Amino acid sequence: MHFSGQQARWQETAELDPPRPGEVQLRVAYAGVNRADLMQRAGHYPPPPGVSDIPGLEVSGTVIGVGANVRSLAAGDEVCALLAGGGYAEKVNVDARQVLPLPRGFSLRDGAALPEVFATAWLNLFMEGNLQPGERVLLHAGASSVGRAAIQLCRAFDRPCFVTAGSQAKLDACAALGADEGFNRHDGSFVDAVKAWGGADVIVDPVGASYLPDNQRVLNADGRLVLIGLMGGRHAELDMGRMLVKRQRLIGSTLRGKSPAAKGEIMQALYTHVWPLLESARLNIQLDRCWPIEEVNDAHACMEQNANAGKLVLHISA
Ligand code: NAP
Repeated sequence: MHFSGQQARWQETAELDPPRPGEVQLRVAYAGVNRADLMQRAGHYPPPPGVSDIPGLEVSGTVIGVGANVRSLAAGDEVCALLAGGGYAEKVNVDARQVLPLPRGFSLRDGAALPEVFATAWLNLFMEGNLQPGERVLLHAGASSVGRAAIQLCRAFDRPCFVTAGSQAKLDACAALGADEGFNRHDGSFVDAVKAWGGADVIVDPVGASYLPDNQRVLNADGRLVLIGLMGGRHAELDMGRMLVKRQRLIGSTLRGKSPAAKGEIMQALYTHVWPLLESARLNIQLDRCWPIEEVNDAHACMEQNANAGKLVLHISA
């Protein structure tokens, strides 16, 4: 997959190298679409050093090559993988620690929609956010794919959550997944509603600048604000007085640039805590639509217009 101006094109590229020690090669069946792909395409999110400039942060597929020292995977295994890039392609090499078997009962199509959202939700709620029993969570963009995964994790682990979203239909979808309360972001500030609910001990925020002052107002003492995106801008004024007195912590978090070892730790946590819940249908993937790879521009336009209700995936090969 290559870009020409703002248009993506599916085209031949050089044959991929064999997998290096510790890596496997996958024949990609489906690739998940992420906001980061749109940012990369617009030139605002270059791949980390040494990573393919082909977009695509997650895939499902079949193992077709196994590098030295890999014991956990074998040719023919059907898997899903978290990538730093390169997923919009027929083949990809990936560190074996970033690869998991599909949860039992999951198709390759649905498997491509799992790694990025559940890794992001798990990382930021439980690892960065250090969410403890009895604590309360505020999730912005609750109806986003990451938000939908996070709501389900909050429900499964018995942590109350409040969501913001952009329409009543999206708030209803969040409630159906287990959100306790919600607020339409087009109705003004969420501060009064969240305070009346009890405030937040952990906020997972993909919005950034435009929400910073209100996030600080609703973040409880010792609370953690985990910043995962900048959909509302990157420059804002921090109230350091409030931060100091309430012992608030502001944590920046990006999954993509983490090392394979760190990504492997997150994937192992998913395998232990999340895969059994997916297999018993206590958690579900919210798939909006599957597009053929040749229609990637339409899939991106759908996401750009906030028209997707859940994950978009691209079908690459049978
Ligand atoms: P998604 O499914 O496409 O949903 C994004 C939703 O955000 C939109 O549908 C829209 O919903 C809402 N939104 C858009 N612009 C907004 C704004 N200015 N203010 C408030 N809400 C806005 O997205 P996703 O793939 O789940 O990703 C969600 C966010 O997480 C993105 O910002 C992405 O970059 C970030 N992310 C970060 C990491 C990381 O490692 N840091 C990893 C994955 C994703 P409404 O219509 O309901 O407002």
